Amino acid sequence: MGYNKGMKADVVIIGGGPAGLTAGIFACRAGLNVVLLEKLALGGQASLSYKIANYPGFKDISGFDLANKMREQAEAVGLKIEYAEVCALTQTKIGFSVKTKDVTYSAKKVIIACGCIARKLGLDREKEFTGKGISYCASCDGNFFKGKDVAVVGGGNTAIEDVDYLTKIAKKVYLINRTEHFRAGEHEVRRIKKYKNVEVLTNTTVKQLLGESLLEGLELKVGNAKRKLAISGLFVAIGHEPNLDFVKLNLKLDKFGYIIVDENKQTSVKNLFACGDITSKKFRQIITACADGAIAGNACIGVK
Ligand code: NAP
Repeated sequence: MGYNKGMKADVVIIGGGPAGLTAGIFACRAGLNVVLLEKLALGGQASLSYKIANYPGFKDISGFDLANKMREQAEAVGLKIEYAEVCALTQTKIGFSVKTKDVTYSAKKVIIACGCIARKLGLDREKEFTGKGISYCASCDGNFFKGKDVAVVGGGNTAIEDVDYLTKIAKKVYLINRTEHFRAGEHEVRRIKKYKNVEVLTNTTVKQLLGESLLEGLELKVGNAKRKLAISGLFVAIGHEPNLDFVKLNLKLDKFGYIIVDENKQTSVKNLFACGDITSKKFRQIITACADGAIAGNACIGVK
């Protein structure tokens, strides 16, 4: 689609994951002129899952296929999808200015749905094994490792919650923490140490990912020694990073850097909405992102 340098829309959605696409479906079906800007690929974090089994209506679907179905539905109701990275979001007299490298969009309302990124270990082959043994979401992918040996990396509350969740599914769960110190509460760490199928490895780092086409094991550094660990799944739980550098507005964030929204998904700035993983909430799933998106899209109705 060839847009000129300055474009107008009723609503601009930033981010094409499940939250953004759902917001687009709801806003478009209400007759609004909506542009969605995605920097890379539609589907967000969900598109990394090779099998999604907890999205109602689909017993088993890949993240890629689910995102594609959402895209088809959104485009069918008139959503305009553009692939461009947003470099600045600012406020204007009539609403907002959303700047990409080549185009500046002016919109009466904006929905931020850019998700957040799971922190990576930064190891060789990490990308290659993602979805083939490496996961960044235990509650999304844990079920695919029934009766197998898995490991969780991290020492915060997410890692502990992941271990807790995986003990009910996997045969054995290793928790790998790079120091003796856990960021998670002491009580929580003590609790999971009591599980028979948990082994906690402290002062331990993952040095190498092993396997042919699927992840089969890890080479670890335990203190000054080396150890090989045979596992089928590695859950990386070393934190997430909300990335809101492009927002040049005084947004209210929680202490972890996620956007605080009201019940209509409106942020602390009027007519600026946010939905999905970038918002402050507890349960980050595709279905909850879609629900957020529906509310944000619906809240934009009446903008004309
Ligand atoms: P987090 O608290 O920031 O912990 C990240 C963990 O990963 C730390 O143990 C850190 O180790 C480790 N780590 C970071 N980079 C690493 C690397 N490159 N290699 C190996 N280990 C690495 O992250 P989180 O657990 O996702 O929690 C985020 C926030 O949400 C926290 O404040 C947490 O309390 C909160 N949260 C709350 C709940 C709850 O209330 N139920 C649940 C989940 C999360 P170091 O300590 O050595 O840096």
